[in-house]
Amino acid sequence: MHLRIVKRSAILDVLGVFGVFALSACAGGLGETAGGGSAAGEATTKNPFKDVAFFLNPDYAANVEATAKRHPDEAATIRKVAKYPTAVWLDSIASVHEHLKGWLDEAKKQQDALGKPTLTVVVVYDLPNRDCSAASSAGELKVNLNGEQRYKTEFIDPITAEFKAHPDQPIVVVLEPDSLGNLATNMAIPACQEARPAYKNGIIYALRSFILPNVSVYLDAAHSGWLGWDDNRAKIAKIFKQVVNEAGGPHLIRGFAINTANYTHLSNRDGAVLEPTNPCPNELTYVKVLGKTMQMNGFKNHHFIIDTARNGRGQIRAAWGSWCNVHGAGLGERPRVEPEPNVDAYFWIKPPGESDGVSDPSQPRYDSMCGGPDAAKGAPQAGEWFESYFLDLVHKAKPPL
Ligand code: BGC
Repeated sequence: MHLRIVKRSAILDVLGVFGVFALSACAGGLGETAGGGSAAGEATTKNPFKDVAFFLNPDYAANVEATAKRHPDEAATIRKVAKYPTAVWLDSIASVHEHLKGWLDEAKKQQDALGKPTLTVVVVYDLPNRDCSAASSAGELKVNLNGEQRYKTEFIDPITAEFKAHPDQPIVVVLEPDSLGNLATNMAIPACQEARPAYKNGIIYALRSFILPNVSVYLDAAHSGWLGWDDNRAKIAKIFKQVVNEAGGPHLIRGFAINTANYTHLSNRDGAVLEPTNPCPNELTYVKVLGKTMQMNGFKNHHFIIDTARNGRGQIRAAWGSWCNVHGAGLGERPRVEPEPNVDAYFWIKPPGESDGVSDPSQPRYDSMCGGPDAAKGAPQAGEWFESYFLDLVHKAKPPL
């Protein structure tokens, strides 16, 4: 993860006007369907976050608890974090074999104990040439080493089998953060160029595989600072349309996941607009504007989920493109269902406290963003527990814990 290039349009002033137009034209315009889903272009029917409980990942809770024990003076506040659900990440073939069954079995136990459907949110993240425009989350599969085929048979197939083995519990998939965004804006980077067919084919394969009654899919749409610009949004819309239609049509997805593992604020409340000429200066505007763009591309009634794990505070970074362990961040809105029109949920997709990437330049997968001026120091490898950063997130939580 994540985003290297926040591209500015050369004709922003003109496009900015259309951005405003698109916003007012779509405000309140994407009403929910009551049980539709089969008509051309319609999203899958119901909000999967509604009327369910949420899986609490014991592995995450164990990290939080260990930190609480090491900080007894503030243990009570720290422990509050473990009460909120987080997504689980499948970031390697091994992670599927080592964790997925256990997580889903545990979710089933929680479901049985509560007597209420219990939703597990699963991030599927292992395309070949993963993180093609950055280094910190470079993955195990490579396009030139049979990566596409391995992705399908060794990664997606076992995930699908496990989803099928847990038919009585709801599952949400966040599909491949950053991947199609990279195809939209980062084609000048050779690893992204090489990845293009594999990203598309891999996602098409995953979309077809996850046509299951208990699974709802949100395709990752990065965030407003990246794909909100008019020209970038037009490019990503074209790619979404092509990929989803080739898979079978817009009804295969419930909608789009945005701000995954990023820090972009929900609104301009904090006056934190780094790029005022972007027609989508924050995530809630992006929901409206991208929703309208996708509607014009044949996607009806599609909804969004927003990662609010770490976007509680605005004005924390010098550049919108800073994505790695951004210093000064606080926990954002707590996971919540239907907080805004067309937003199915705020959810903690990036488990807060897990690193975005190592800050030591001598380590493998070091990305200069993780050693840059906006990044917190002392960070371990992506996905590993970064205790001092977790504590900062807790201290700066907004709303407070
Ligand atoms: C990392 C994954 C990790 C995830 C959640 C990503 O940036 O690449 O390894 O599981 O974040 O922390």
